[in-house]
Amino acid sequence: MPMDHALPDTLSVRWPDGTATPPAETDAAIDRAAAVLRAGGLVAIPTETVYGLAGLALSESSVERIFIAKGRSSTNPLIVHVDSVEMARGLASDWPVAAERIARACWPGPVTVVVPKASHVPDTVTAGGPTVALRCPDQPVARELIARLGEPLAAPSANRSLRLSPTTAAHVLESLGAKVDLILDAGPCGRGIESTVVDCTVSPPAILRPGPFSAAALAAALGDSIAPTSDATPDAASPARSPGQAARHYAPRTPLEISPRSAERVSELLRAGKRVGWLTTRAADARTRRIATSAEVVVVPMPDDPAPHAAMLYAVLHAVDKRSLDWIIVDEPPARDDWQAIHDRLTRAAAPEQEPADDESPPPASA
Ligand code: AMP
Ligand code: MG
Repeated sequence: MPMDHALPDTLSVRWPDGTATPPAETDAAIDRAAAVLRAGGLVAIPTETVYGLAGLALSESSVERIFIAKGRSSTNPLIVHVDSVEMARGLASDWPVAAERIARACWPGPVTVVVPKASHVPDTVTAGGPTVALRCPDQPVARELIARLGEPLAAPSANRSLRLSPTTAAHVLESLGAKVDLILDAGPCGRGIESTVVDCTVSPPAILRPGPFSAAALAAALGDSIAPTSDATPDAASPARSPGQAARHYAPRTPLEISPRSAERVSELLRAGKRVGWLTTRAADARTRRIATSAEVVVVPMPDDPAPHAAMLYAVLHAVDKRSLDWIIVDEPPARDDWQAIHDRLTRAAAPEQEPADDESPPPASA
């Protein structure tokens, strides 16, 4: 049985591009991960988006352990990871044309499709709902693990609920510690933010959570229109189309503010005697350099291209969050389709702290 008290082993894994099989150590690490999972344990796995906390998706008890380890609300369904379109189809009671097109065009990759669930998919994994969210990760070790198991893995981000997602194995260890049984370490995640979630049960398909694939990229893959996220700032009063899209999410402990005039805002906070972290794409500006001479500010230069910006965003927030600052100020991202996922994550990170009850709610009752 998996042990709850010992810190997990971290095994290095790698899979050089263009090779059909992994190096021997990685091969052994995948076998060990499969054994832990078959025994009902939880393994933190690398994906191209963020590290996932994986358990057997078709096992009620494994899925319940995931909810407990994360302190995740039982109303927030998990994404089920597959190694192929064929495995995905086997988990769906209906496979809409949109799901087929997205899967064929974007998988393996950071797009999740929501489809009607097959009856053998446990209600726990879908938070009691009639649909299941499916994704095939663009990470060869993750796919090989699923292939060896011959069954899908439920894998939400490997962090305590509502906190920053992990993009390194060290982040996982810091957040979950002994709550995970084994960590596979493939280095920093390439994409760095969570997948785009697309509801394929409606027509046209609708983006429930923006992600690395923008609305324009998805529309191109679909050869059809796509309904963009209705509102990047979720409204607590409106019915949850994507359950678990909590207003506050992906949050550092330090208060975070998105500022359209970040230089003024940082100067104002410094004058008020505050210590400030400042994520800015304008680090080279004379004005920024002047402000940066203050010992009370940590200036983090950020790329002004959304893909590399997303790839480093959580790692930067994790690092700045450790410096015990009073504020994190972030430049307001451009109002463009390809910045929408970053805008979404920052908006959730900036949302006011919620009732702790939701974060600590018990896992779903077992069947
Ligand atoms: P995470 O595992 O933290 O990346 O979160 C998974 C995201 O996928 C959450 O925002 C969920 O609300 C969403 N999701 C998972 N399953 C479904 C589903 N069946 N229908 C709609 N959204 C879903
Ligand atoms: Mg998460």
